[in-house]
Amino acid sequence: MTENDSVMRAMTNDGAFRVVAARTTDTAQAVVAAQNLSGPLAHDMADLLTTAVLYRETMAPSLRVQCIVRFEDEAGQLVADSHPDGWTRGLLQPGPGDAPPDLRQTRATLQMMRTLPNSDLHRGVVEVPESGNLSEAFMRYMQLSEQIVSMISLGSAVEGDCPAAGGFVVQLLPEAAEADAAMDTMTRRLEDFVEIRERLQKFDGSPSQLIEQIFEGMPFTWLDNSDIRFGCQCSEVRVMTTLSVLDRSDIQELVDEGEPLSIGCDYCGASYSVEIAQLRGLLRSS
Ligand SMILES: [Zn+2]
Repeated sequence: MTENDSVMRAMTNDGAFRVVAARTTDTAQAVVAAQNLSGPLAHDMADLLTTAVLYRETMAPSLRVQCIVRFEDEAGQLVADSHPDGWTRGLLQPGPGDAPPDLRQTRATLQMMRTLPNSDLHRGVVEVPESGNLSEAFMRYMQLSEQIVSMISLGSAVEGDCPAAGGFVVQLLPEAAEADAAMDTMTRRLEDFVEIRERLQKFDGSPSQLIEQIFEGMPFTWLDNSDIRFGCQCSEVRVMTTLSVLDRSDIQELVDEGEPLSIGCDYCGASYSVEIAQLRGLLRSS
């Protein structure tokens, strides 16, 4: 049976740990293709997409989240969005320079945001460590901004014959008895899970197999699961909504130019054509 991108959760029966594991292989491959990424940048994009999915599923399953790797020296940024419906998308916004940014060469920050039901943003920023390791940056964020003790590993191979992308968050639950001892045991166990790329490749990224290996020998209970897929929320309606907030004079200028407007979505590559008649319609309604 082939796996689909999904998220699974489980909890140890002693109430000490919860794990959220994700397979993001197909989503990452679709984003890497849509953004035309290769090499380290493709790898970092895949890990950032997994970060966004795991962050939402761990902290706020019903909220929209966005994670941004912002490179220093104006070297651009990587953006990943994850939506409660499961759709996930990514974007490279390059800097003015030619060279593609590389987390191992250029310092960067990781910014984590979620949109609260009242439209306020909850935002936290951490430095990505010098090694460029996003798993460590994500863990640091959880500790500093959310006061959650967790062990996180991300892994990806988006190019080549055996693609795989995914990761997990193991969270020490606040009600854990003898938390320090439980944490020591789990830390030792997860030493084998620091680098999970090959493990993911071996079982097609299956989140259930990942969880079975992490909790091996510990009684645990499966919780809910959900699907993840590459997707974008762009639409003609959204394009028209964006245009409708332009100044009247700007819309008039577009009408005077006399050419249909072509607008492309940077995330998914979809392109929208806005006819002159539609632009005139905006003038009438504004
Ligand atoms: Zn789009």
